Amino acid sequence: MGKILEIKNLSKYFDDFTAVKNVDFSVEEGGFFSILGSSGCGKTTLLRIIAGFQQQSEGEVIIRGQSMKGIPPEKRPVNIVFQNLALFPMMNVRENVAFGLNRIRKRQKLKTADINSKINEMLERVGLNGYEKKKVTDLSGGQRQRVAIARSLVMNPSILLLDEPLGALDRKLREHMKVELKLLQKEIGTTFVYITHDQSEALVMSDQVAVMHDGQFEQIDTPRNLYKNPRTSFVAGFVGDTNRFELASTEGDSLMTKGGWKLSRSDLTMTSPGTPEVFFIRPEALIINPDSSMNDVDQFEVMIKTILFDGSNTKLSTIVNDSREELLISLPQNAQFDGIEEGHTLNVGVHRNDVKCF
Ligand code: ATP
Repeated sequence: MGKILEIKNLSKYFDDFTAVKNVDFSVEEGGFFSILGSSGCGKTTLLRIIAGFQQQSEGEVIIRGQSMKGIPPEKRPVNIVFQNLALFPMMNVRENVAFGLNRIRKRQKLKTADINSKINEMLERVGLNGYEKKKVTDLSGGQRQRVAIARSLVMNPSILLLDEPLGALDRKLREHMKVELKLLQKEIGTTFVYITHDQSEALVMSDQVAVMHDGQFEQIDTPRNLYKNPRTSFVAGFVGDTNRFELASTEGDSLMTKGGWKLSRSDLTMTSPGTPEVFFIRPEALIINPDSSMNDVDQFEVMIKTILFDGSNTKLSTIVNDSREELLISLPQNAQFDGIEEGHTLNVGVHRNDVKCF
């Protein structure tokens, strides 16, 4: 498998505003690549440039080794699924899926029998056989989603671009569709480039995720690495739940956070040489009542403010003793609850490798 998509040093300016800045990446054939970032970071602009709806100011888009310069959207080997799906409400499921093929049937001399068998195969693949005659307005959100994907995939694109396609669904359906989309992509093997502001969608579905911030890529990595080894403070704070602490002063070996938590320099030296400005600790990295013999585990006391139980997880909202710093702790499933009560003091530890400093 080689690279199917290469983006080289791509920038987009709107007058003096830079929406996309020096973006460089490639996507492997058959991969599921997500671009994750908050609203306004430039995701849609980047996707529209790949699709050819918008021109870049600088840089190159290359698909299967061919530069897309001057190639209009309808001639690019890509298809796009929009957030609002853009289905035709007056058409039934089959007519929606057939739309693109019917448009090119004359030009490409497609036979009716071939069109029909392609549509049947695609409806089967997305689990919509039996729904052909239904109006799309009578379908559920998840079913409409599948019609939109089938309508794009039936055109056999080299790359399917997806612009927040789960954004309009309710939470439960979104959870379900995440798994469905991932399975569908693996089964059909088409390369997906997916943009989202929802980190859980990106982490669950993708082989590779690019975290985008202010028009630039901060890190491109596997979901696991993004979570475990963030390379910038933005990624550490943006991907997953975390506790963030800003350092306010350093005096010799003593460091103090803005909220008055006193640490020694050696507590923070495992993941960053020099003096960091900010550090992060994941709630699940905190160890309750650690054994004093544990190596490289810093220990401190917290006061339990409140216990947060959401059905599958228990979290403790705490304050680090002798400071104003709040610390969220996620308890393991098999946690012992002896001594875990609001207002009580708790001994907590964190392995120095789990303190990410920047
Ligand atoms: P969202 O998730 O909200 O859609 P996004 O990450 O997709 O956000 P873009 O739509 O790519 O962000 O927009 C990036 C920035 O570029 C925004 O600040 C936006 O206002 C600006 N922008 C986008 N299109 C234009 C345009 N045609 N003219 C001027 N500015 C634009």
